[in-house]
Amino acid sequence: MAGTGKFFVGGNWKCNGTKDSIKQLVSDLNSATLEADVDVVVGPPFVYIDQVKNTLSDRIEIAAQNSWIGKGGAFTGEISAEQLKDIGCKWVILGHSERRHVIGEDDQFIGKKAAYALGQNLGVIACIGELLEEREAGKTFDVCFKQLKAYADAVSSWDNIVIAYEPVWAIGTGKVASPEQAQEVHVAVRDWLAKNVSPEVASKTRIIYGGSVNAGNSADLAKKEDIDGFLVGGASLKGSDFATIINSVT
Ligand code: PGA
Repeated sequence: MAGTGKFFVGGNWKCNGTKDSIKQLVSDLNSATLEADVDVVVGPPFVYIDQVKNTLSDRIEIAAQNSWIGKGGAFTGEISAEQLKDIGCKWVILGHSERRHVIGEDDQFIGKKAAYALGQNLGVIACIGELLEEREAGKTFDVCFKQLKAYADAVSSWDNIVIAYEPVWAIGTGKVASPEQAQEVHVAVRDWLAKNVSPEVASKTRIIYGGSVNAGNSADLAKKEDIDGFLVGGASLKGSDFATIINSVT
């Protein structure tokens, strides 16, 4: 834990769940014992946010998985940051690799979305991460720095940003980055922030890891100095596993 602030664990539920399965997951989370010194956030699909907000313990904050780039209006299918605030979201996940590589969002678009959401007082979980071929070509840092620069160019304050380093090859594949691989990138991200934003932002920004984190590997990852938390997909859909991950902070 190098970023000042608490360990941060987010659950990204992606496009999963039904009213019934989410009722069960919320009930499991409400009855779990969670380490007090950890910020915990879950990201349900938009349509279930209200259900979760009304039933989940206030101990856990709610994130949306996306938000529109500006004020709402004639944008069919989009959800604005104002609307997310209105229903009680505190956070939004932006720049996730599935939005970059499946939906086609680019760095600048994501940077602008982050700036707009921050302007509406939402916290932003700002994702970055390289594809397998980019890692194999030795371009991991270049890719991550380019994505970081787009956030840095767009935002005016880093107070409400958590960076999620999620190597795309590790997401949903069961192929977790080793603690050393993750630590290496987290340190590089912190150095980049120190040089390109400010040493203060570098030391206080939490840099969390995502990509096949589970109840069996989280404790080893959490031991690394610059891993300040996790963004968890698949394993966040099981309350007991998510609780184990939250409690793996040392
Ligand atoms: P995963 O997803 O834990 O299922 O690999 C992580 C993420 O996409 O945020």
